[in-house]
This record gives sequence, C-alpha cells and structure tokens, in this order.
Amino acid sequence: MNNLKPFRIIMSKKKYHCPRCGETKIYEHDSTFDCFKCNLEFDKEDCDNYDDEDILSIEEKLAFHNGFQEEE
Ligand SMILES: [Zn+2]
Repeated sequence: MNNLKPFRIIMSKKKYHCPRCGETKIYEHDSTFDCFKCNLEFDKEDCDNYDDEDILSIEEKLAFHNGFQEEE
C-alpha cells in the first residue's frame, strides 16, 4: 500500500517518452526533449502529432535535410 510518490520529478502537463526506446526519463526543454538512454533529441510537437515509429530525432531530421542539399 505504498503508492504515494514522495515527489514528482517532471512537472509537465503532458508526459513525454522516447519514441525510440520508450524511456520515460527525459530532459525536457521548451519544445524538445532528450532521451536519457539514446541521447537523441526529439520535437515534442512530433510526439503530439505522429506515432512513435514515424518520429525522427532532430539529428536524423538534420541529416535528412543535409542529404537533400548534397544531391543538388
Ligand atoms: Zn530513447
């Protein structure tokens, strides 16, 4: 019967988790968060709008854009 948590670690309206590994320990920023496990950064907006499997990390999105530019 010990289900009272002594304190809350993350005070946010919505609880985000890593779309890649499911980790719930994250560093929250204004519009993004970092996963403790993968060290990847994700946009919160993406997590609001897409399924986990469709979400790219910010690093991956940058690589994607750079790839496009190099083709030209
Ligand atoms: Zn992760």
